[in-house]
Amino acid sequence: MMNNTIIIDPGHGGKDPGGGSNEYWLEKEMVLKISEYQYKRFKELGFNVKMTRAEDVYLGASQRTKIVKESGAKYCISNHINAGGGEGAETIYSIHGDGKLAKAILAELINVGQKKRRAFSKTLSNSANLDYYFMHRQTGFVETVIVEYGFADNQEDTKRILSDWEKYAESVIKAVCSHMGHTYDKIVKEDNHDRWKYEGIKYLYEKGVLNDLEGWKEKINEPMPVWAVTLMLKEIYNQLRGD
Ligand SMILES: [Zn+2]
Repeated sequence: MMNNTIIIDPGHGGKDPGGGSNEYWLEKEMVLKISEYQYKRFKELGFNVKMTRAEDVYLGASQRTKIVKESGAKYCISNHINAGGGEGAETIYSIHGDGKLAKAILAELINVGQKKRRAFSKTLSNSANLDYYFMHRQTGFVETVIVEYGFADNQEDTKRILSDWEKYAESVIKAVCSHMGHTYDKIVKEDNHDRWKYEGIKYLYEKGVLNDLEGWKEKINEPMPVWAVTLMLKEIYNQLRGD
């Protein structure tokens, strides 16, 4: 049988917040959120899926790569947010691999609106036979792709990641599925995922409490500002009084 085990590696954790942090998130938290989303989605799609960490715990390089090596996975997706003055998504593959999955992931990220930076591999400066990144160097036969979703110190990337991180997380699922020839079922899952949320918005729209159905749908996962709450309560109050 084909190996359909995937391991997801949320970078950093515990005492190591990760350099891809800013005033809106810590890298370790953002990549855990992305990884948890992907864990659920891979499960739904019938993959055998594992994670290097499911909590805010610190993992040293050897501890982390041991988990990956012993996972029995075919692929490891190592999730990160970049920093250091760039813009856009990067995927990084081993110098010993063909980079096909990394390139497919980057292409899907671009498809859903992230800016393209590059897919690349890199050697240690003193050795042409060794990968630069320990996630490639020490993960044995598990093909690891490091995904850098964008730059925490870039304003546009920050905006995009805040509003579209779910889309970016999903694009990785799509790329892995098509790379492995696995069924990718998007629409049904997305429907189930958010239908109950949309129902609430639709109800209040039909009752005349909300006036911009599409606008509210787009902001479905955002907190509601105080002014909106007060206007809604005022509308409901007026309706109850019969004004
Ligand atoms: Zn990182």
